[in-house]
Amino acid sequence: MSESPSSGAPYPYEAPASQALFDRAAAVTPGGVNSPVRAFRAVGGTPRFMVSGTGPYLTDADGREYVDLVCSWGPMILGHAHPEVVAAVREAVSRGTSFGTPGEGEVALAEEIVARVEPVQQVRLVSSGTEATMSAIRLARGFTRRAKVIKFAGCYHGHVDSLLAAAGSGVATFALPDTPGVTGAQAGDTIVLPYNDLEAVHEAFHRHPGEIACVITEASPGNMGVVPPLPGFNQGLKDACAQNGALYISDEVMTGFRTSRAGWYGIDGVKPDLMTFGKVMGGGFPAAAFGGRADVMEHLAPAGPVYQAGTLSGNPVATAAGLAQLRLLDDAAYAKVDAVSRQIQALVSEALGKEGVAHTLQTASNMFSVFFTDRPVRNYEDAKAQESFRFTAFFQSLLANGVYLPPSSFESWFVSTAHDERALQRIADALPAAARAAAEATA
Ligand code: PLP
Repeated sequence: MSESPSSGAPYPYEAPASQALFDRAAAVTPGGVNSPVRAFRAVGGTPRFMVSGTGPYLTDADGREYVDLVCSWGPMILGHAHPEVVAAVREAVSRGTSFGTPGEGEVALAEEIVARVEPVQQVRLVSSGTEATMSAIRLARGFTRRAKVIKFAGCYHGHVDSLLAAAGSGVATFALPDTPGVTGAQAGDTIVLPYNDLEAVHEAFHRHPGEIACVITEASPGNMGVVPPLPGFNQGLKDACAQNGALYISDEVMTGFRTSRAGWYGIDGVKPDLMTFGKVMGGGFPAAAFGGRADVMEHLAPAGPVYQAGTLSGNPVATAAGLAQLRLLDDAAYAKVDAVSRQIQALVSEALGKEGVAHTLQTASNMFSVFFTDRPVRNYEDAKAQESFRFTAFFQSLLANGVYLPPSSFESWFVSTAHDERALQRIADALPAAARAAAEATA
C-alpha cells in the first residue's frame, strides 16, 4: 500500500485511483497484472495504472504525468500517440480489423524488414516475441534434426518453456530459480551457459557432438540490465555454430529497429542464420517476426514440414502501425534517439557521482541501464551482485517526482524521438533527490 510522506514510508505519495484499480484487478487477475514486472513487487508500492500517453509522457489514473523512460518496454521509439502512426491505425481500422486471409500490409512489412536487415531473406510474422523465439527454436530443431539448445543465463527470450531456465527480465527480477510447469523433458534439452564466455560454448559443443541444434542469444542483452557482448563474442558464437552444424539465432526482439535501422546487426555486422523481432516493429501493437536464411525458412509450413501458424498473425491493424513506425525511423530519427539517450545518461551519472553513489552505466547504442556497483557487469552473476536496494530508493524518488523508470534493476531504460528539452529538464530536476535517496538507502 502506498503511504503519505509524513508517515516516513518509502512510497512518497499515495496513488488512490491506481490502488483502487489494482485492488479490483487483483480480484480477477493473478497478482493484479497481465505481465509480472508490472506489479512493482521488486520496488514496492502501487503500480501506476496509466490512462493515456502523449509523446514522452504518460498520465496515470490519479491524473499525474510522468516522463516515460520505459516506452512500453521498448516499442514506443517515436513516443506515445505519434500522429502519423495513429493516422495509419485509424485508416486500417476503418477498413476492418482482421480478415484471416493474406493482405498487402503483411507483404509491405515483410519487405521493409528484409530491406533493412540483410541476413533476413524471408520472414514470418507472428504476434509476440515469445512466439517468434519459440518458432525459431522449433524451426532450428526441425532443420538440423537435433534437440539441444544453448542459451545464456540472464538472457530472456519470452516465456517459452525450454528458454525459461536462468532467464532475465521478470524471472531475474523475482529471482525465480525455475518455473513450475516446465517439465524436465522441456528443460532437459536446454544448456544454460554464462554470458560472454566463449570457452563455455566451445566446451558445450565438445561435450555434445552432433546434438546441438542452435545457440540463441540476445543480440545485445537488455534483460539483466544492459550487458553488451564483449568484442568478438557474437562472432565467436557464429563461428562455433558454423563449425558444429548448428544455427546461430540472434534474438533482436528488444534491439531490432531500436539500436539502429538494422538493429544490433547494423552495429556488429555478425550474420545470424535466424533472427527474431518484436517491440518496435509493431508500433505498439502485437506484431513480431522471425526470419533469416531462405533455405532454413523454407522448412516452414506450408512450404516445408515444420508447422507454425497464428489466427492473428500479420493482423492488418498491427502491420499498419508497425509499417508506419518503421517508415518514420530514418537516420535522423536514430540520431535523435541516440542523442537523447546520451543526454540522459550524462544527467544520471552526474547526479549519482555528486552523491558518491557507486554505479556503472552500461549502454548498447541508445539502450542503457544503471547498475549500483562500481564493477563492469559482463554477465548475470555480475548483474546480481549489484546493490539493488539502492535502485529501489532511486526508483521511488524518481516516481514521486514524475519520472517513470522500469520497476526493476534488471531492465533496460528506453527513450524516444519525442523526449524533448522539457522532458529532459524534468528528469534533470528529479535526479538530485533520487541520487540522494540512493546514497542514503540501506539494505
Ligand atoms: N526476446 C527478448 C530479447 C525480449 O526482450 C522479449 C520481451 O521482453 C521477448 C523475447 C519476448 O517478447 P514478448 O514479450 O513480446 O513475448
